[in-house]
Amino acid sequence: MIYLDAASTTPVRREAIEAMFPFLTNQFGNPSSHHELGELAAQALAQARERCAAVLGVHAQELVFTSGGTEGDNMALKGLALARRAANPALNQVVISAVEHPAIVESARYLDRVHGFEVLQLPVNAAGEVSAQDFAALLGLTGGGPAPQGRGSVAVASVMYANNEVGTVQDIAALARLAAQAQVPLHSDAVQAAGWLPLQPRRLGVAALTLSGHKIGAPKGSGLLYLRAGTACEPLIHGGGQERGARSGTPNVAFAVALATALELAEQERTEAAQRVAAQRDEFTAWVLRHIPGAVRTGHARARLPGVASFCFPGTSGESLLLELERRGIVCSSGSACAAGSDEPSPVLTAMGMERSVAQTALRLSFNSSVTAAELAAAGRELAAAVQSVQRFKAAPQQHQGQ
Ligand code: PLP
Repeated sequence: MIYLDAASTTPVRREAIEAMFPFLTNQFGNPSSHHELGELAAQALAQARERCAAVLGVHAQELVFTSGGTEGDNMALKGLALARRAANPALNQVVISAVEHPAIVESARYLDRVHGFEVLQLPVNAAGEVSAQDFAALLGLTGGGPAPQGRGSVAVASVMYANNEVGTVQDIAALARLAAQAQVPLHSDAVQAAGWLPLQPRRLGVAALTLSGHKIGAPKGSGLLYLRAGTACEPLIHGGGQERGARSGTPNVAFAVALATALELAEQERTEAAQRVAAQRDEFTAWVLRHIPGAVRTGHARARLPGVASFCFPGTSGESLLLELERRGIVCSSGSACAAGSDEPSPVLTAMGMERSVAQTALRLSFNSSVTAAELAAAGRELAAAVQSVQRFKAAPQQHQGQ
């Protein structure tokens, strides 16, 4: 099997398993316990936090260990919106981009449905990019724009760093400068950016940043939320006050240690991996566009994740292509893993202005740095054959009808 679905998840790195093993076995203490075993666990947790903070260039107290990207996104959007409105009731709007992960989209819907916030959507162009001008208008920094009513009432804004379906990378630093001007905290979902793009929240200028462990070789269910010092955030989970009250519950020491290990390694390897894999992605993309008639690349040509090649193949269906490719030993994804199995076209692609019928033919091939040229060459050949076979099959019933 050739695994080209790294944007869905990655295997846990051996170094991360070895680092966390003691905390699943003989050093199993609860960091809140006042005995030696507890102390050891508390020290390990504190060290893991320090190591993550060193990679991100932030203070350890600014980091909250979470259960992953979904929790980090929920906590940031809901927590910041509720805390800001509690301090100033006029702040009753949230801004999200039109291509966010469901963890942000559904959190925004919840804020609307249950808490009466108005959700303003930041549109994207055909490449999946938001525009600074539109953002400025939503923040009330300029007149005009898609929703001038946003002026001065935005509690929180959230724009993902890199998109999980088409790999488009946003200029978060530019957006953060605008958000700072408008005194609105900007959150960014950096789940897909980890391992590929610089992750320092201070350089980016964001107030909050979400990371997930399982995209970079840590276990599923591990994650981090950066919250800039002094940023009020209403907790989602109440209880014993762990994580400085931001997230109650006995901390998962083993996963924190694994995440710190995976994050350090990802950062050490990042620059070389990003360059090499981007070149492989470009070669693969060029091959596909040259050899598969009608193939369309989705997302931005250059500002995109090194490890994501995404296409539409008109005249096919993404789901049929997936099945056909799996039969041929290639594993990938049709749009995002979360939307897989549904007939509905991806909201990300439709937000980029793609017709429903074309959006239904989307395929994402995503790789990590261990991908080889031979694997990509084989994937290209099988993809070309799979597209032909699905197109023939889809065309067949129409021919019968015409006879
Ligand atoms: N945000 C993005 C951009 C993602 O790609 C994902 C996972 O696919 C998530 C959030 C959710 O992360 P997790 O699976 O850790 O909950």
